Amino acid sequence: MKSKLPQVGISIFSQMTALANEHGAINLSQGFPEFDAPDYLKSQLSHYVGEGQNQYSPSAGVPSLQAQVAALIERRYQVNVSGQEQITVTSGATEALFVAIQAIVSEGDEVIVFDPAYDSYEPAIELAGGKAVHIALTAPHYQIDWQQVAASINPNTRAIIINTPHNPTAKTLKPSDIAQLKQLLNQHDLLLISDEVYEHITFDGLPHLSALTDPVLFERAFVISSFGKTFHSTGWKMGYCVAPKQMTVEFRKIHQYVTFSSFTPAQLALADMLAEHPEHVDELSGFYQQKRDVLVKALASSRFTLLPSEGTYFLLLDYSEISDLDDVAFCRYLVEEVGVAAVPLSVFYQQASEDKVIRLCFAKENKTLEEAAKRLCQL
Ligand code: PMP
Ligand code: GLN
Repeated sequence: MKSKLPQVGISIFSQMTALANEHGAINLSQGFPEFDAPDYLKSQLSHYVGEGQNQYSPSAGVPSLQAQVAALIERRYQVNVSGQEQITVTSGATEALFVAIQAIVSEGDEVIVFDPAYDSYEPAIELAGGKAVHIALTAPHYQIDWQQVAASINPNTRAIIINTPHNPTAKTLKPSDIAQLKQLLNQHDLLLISDEVYEHITFDGLPHLSALTDPVLFERAFVISSFGKTFHSTGWKMGYCVAPKQMTVEFRKIHQYVTFSSFTPAQLALADMLAEHPEHVDELSGFYQQKRDVLVKALASSRFTLLPSEGTYFLLLDYSEISDLDDVAFCRYLVEEVGVAAVPLSVFYQQASEDKVIRLCFAKENKTLEEAAKRLCQL
């Protein structure tokens, strides 16, 4: 059969987790929490399943969840959006990204993505008949050169995808980035896909600059988030997309034929969680900052160079003082010989970078982080 994605293999996250399991290594590769979802959230899920809320929800989402997400946005960002007309509940941020891309990309359209880039963007663009135009950011600062972005815009350019806080670099966009992004979107009449799945995880008091908070950005943006990151429930695959009314109409036309609707009991449980435990979201940055600090401290005596983690639950390590291996080979060595699974950064690039950098996920128990660091300190 002719492949529509001939160059695509098995995702690095599945590969590394399988390798970690095979070798009994500590798995700091695939990004998912080792700890459980909150008890209240789990008990509400059981409650709704037991109560018989087991049929389709409205395609755009359960109204109480749309309303709670709108309330969350108002509380966190002082922005008013209509739950009914602007928020669509999806089966994970992955579905929202896919649907948003299908909604705006046609044959021949170009979409600018920044490498290292999350792995689902490019296949979704290609399946829509478009082309991803990659702009590579390099270690250790991963700064966007906005002049280079401007130079890569042409009449086929349709949209830019940003991700802040950023997976895998753990960087956040700054006010100067947002100002330049705005200017380019306006000047060239481009759309924006803003992947904000780690919106509630920023460190050292850094603000999350959501596209929702800037009217110029939001009038042309799909803003995408994930309950999986926020509520330690990546396996539920629940997320949402916020967009202006007309863009939401187009988004929903496609969403209804991709999944139609998402898991009803989880939507009801998440609505209750947001209503009853607003502190969970407010405490998330502090919770993960403490984990970051445990890992950073435990690696202090290692020969790795630690890059700053400003948000997400990832930390990058430069291993150039330790090995000449390329990053894929180094990660294989780590999992097989050291007993720690990490992700090589080069797989997030279209043109493999020479940087000797790996990603660790610190959404783990402190003792797991300390044990992994102990092993890494022996190198
Ligand atoms: N975007 C980024 C940057 C991510 O890291 C992830 C999750 N790893 C997703 C999107 C997908 O989120 P979900 O699991 O809700 O589909
Ligand atoms: N987003 C997670 C990561 O970056 C993995 C998601 C997945 O396995 N598809 O590690």
